[in-house]
Amino acid sequence: MGEQLLVIEDEALVRDLVVLNLRHAGYAVASAATFAEGRAALKVPGLSLAVVDVQLPGGEGFQLVREARDAGLRCPVLMLTARSETQSKIRGLDCGADDYLTKPFDVLELLARIRALLRRASGDVQAKAKVLTLGAWWVRFDTGQALTREGTLTLGDKELRLMELFDKSHERLLSRAEILEEVWGADSFPSDRLVDDFVHRLRGLFEPDPSAPKYLLTVGGRGFQFRRPD
Ligand code: CA
Repeated sequence: MGEQLLVIEDEALVRDLVVLNLRHAGYAVASAATFAEGRAALKVPGLSLAVVDVQLPGGEGFQLVREARDAGLRCPVLMLTARSETQSKIRGLDCGADDYLTKPFDVLELLARIRALLRRASGDVQAKAKVLTLGAWWVRFDTGQALTREGTLTLGDKELRLMELFDKSHERLLSRAEILEEVWGADSFPSDRLVDDFVHRLRGLFEPDPSAPKYLLTVGGRGFQFRRPD
């Protein structure tokens, strides 16, 4: 299938379990056990997807992914976190990751999420140099480059897909279920709060006042609606 995966995880038992299962599923898999090894491995061209543990010797996986995104990494990234607090999940998404799994996890669920991330990534529409402008900020859909409240950065794959979905669904109510299916794929098992966490993140990037959204609106308990600037 030609997909090159990378697993960055310091716990040998977890790393071996994940690597063996991915190889058994037919993927080519490289692995790294420390922050420094992971940083080097993320620079290898042709990567299809990376699985990144948060707690690594030498630094946090969050920082590793942020650095790689800022350096132009575009492939899907799934974080493994030992912490279950919402705050660390949002930090996981802040860094440009596309999904996260809390340890301990079921390896079958990990495989299902990886399949879903890879399928969505391969279905990526060819580069459209479209730019969405949101007041002072903008996002380029072909490269994922964005100018945001946090400066210039590269959006993660899911952040970018969610912005594309909002853009093409202008003013239409999008339910959480529809967003999950469109952005994450029907056979993934995302956490209930995933969509809300991502919208929260995007508001922090693109809303003039994230606590009083003008563009990314919550519609009662039913979902979200995108309103372009006038
Ligand atoms: Ca660890």
